[in-house]
Amino acid sequence: MKIHEYQARELLRGAGIPVPPGRAISSAEEAAGAFAEATSGQRSPLAVVKAQVFAGGRGKAGFVKLVKSADEATQAARFMLSNRMKSPQTPPEGLEVRKLLVATAADIADRHGGGKDEFYLAITTDRKSRRNVLIASREGGVEIEEVAKRNPAAILKVPLHPLLGLQPFQARQVAFGLGLAGKLVNQAAAIMLALSRLYVEKDCTLAEINPLVISPDAAGERRVLALDAKFNFDDNATFRHPELAALADHSEDNPAEVRAAAFGLTYIALDGTIGCLVNGAGLAMATMDTIKLHGGEPANFLDVGGSATEEAVTEAFSIILADARVKGVLVNIFGGIMRCDVIAQGIVNAARGFKNRDGSTGFKVPLVVRLEGTNVEAGRALLDKARTDIPTMQAATDLADAARRVCAAVK
Ligand code: GDP
Ligand code: MN
Repeated sequence: MKIHEYQARELLRGAGIPVPPGRAISSAEEAAGAFAEATSGQRSPLAVVKAQVFAGGRGKAGFVKLVKSADEATQAARFMLSNRMKSPQTPPEGLEVRKLLVATAADIADRHGGGKDEFYLAITTDRKSRRNVLIASREGGVEIEEVAKRNPAAILKVPLHPLLGLQPFQARQVAFGLGLAGKLVNQAAAIMLALSRLYVEKDCTLAEINPLVISPDAAGERRVLALDAKFNFDDNATFRHPELAALADHSEDNPAEVRAAAFGLTYIALDGTIGCLVNGAGLAMATMDTIKLHGGEPANFLDVGGSATEEAVTEAFSIILADARVKGVLVNIFGGIMRCDVIAQGIVNAARGFKNRDGSTGFKVPLVVRLEGTNVEAGRALLDKARTDIPTMQAATDLADAARRVCAAVK
């Protein structure tokens, strides 16, 4: 689960991490008022308007704008709310923007040798070392993946002890490693320690501040501030975080994925042409690999779970075929707890009674079925017999045969 930046900033603030004040709005009419609040008491008013979407790269896309007046704020808000945000992190058609953050703009200090004092800071889990790690870089503001490619030496990584977590001495070492000195060292270290506490307390899979900046306050005193934050939470732990579940925004969810979840199916939309219906996540991964090996592209990942009942298969078929790109379907089921003849009957019934989007009944696209397991012979016999009224159906002898058949069918 993800939350928006304006919510992430509240989490940081609650943990004692300094963040410029601001609030979320959902219409251009609210922009002037929010601008006035964000800039009250400033000699030369400056605020920042930021699109709230679940993707980064907003800065470069023009969806983070510094504004000097209520008029400019309103204009920026109107632009962002009526255009889709496109960046390397969004789908090609972009994302609709429904909310904006209007916040006090921070003045970012110039760095010795050019550029601005922007840093990257994150905590995540490193599967290789099987520990949480603190990641920090002097090259903040930009995407960390770019920095990792271009200049991996600019990234500091500190593995965290599983019981002790981030230690104050480690945080100070990282602060020195970022080139900080004086009071800024302890401020940055305190932010790192607070972020690592949040990471554990909230069951995060990612807690990221980018950029963390050095900003002179009104009196010219330099301090460390967080300007943007991103959190991912472990969905398996949301049951113990009602406070986070309340922050969820489902407006960007894939509707097919939501519908699948309601039926206990795990469905992830992809962009190929071969729909997959499989029982078991491991088998689903193997199925997708085998399709690719034979030159095809999977249209989705779909795990119907252990049971593969007629009801689940019917629902899965209609979710898969709701995607207009699907030109063929591969069903790959292992009959372990359930017998293959029962499953075959379920598939046949679901295919026979399938309601197409044009209102007609019966399965129209090529359907390749591979069954294996208990009573497989009886299952295959049932499929063979049903071919008379489901002419697009083929029974495969094994997974490679199934992949070959479905790839040939969609060519
Ligand atoms: P992202 O591009 O989607 O990650 O959005 P960010 O919130 O990280 O903003 C992108 C860039 O805009 C930052 O790296 C900064 O350079 C700039 N920016 C964002 N907020 C402020 C601010 O308050 N003041 C100034 N001067 N620049 C800002
Ligand atoms: Mn950012």
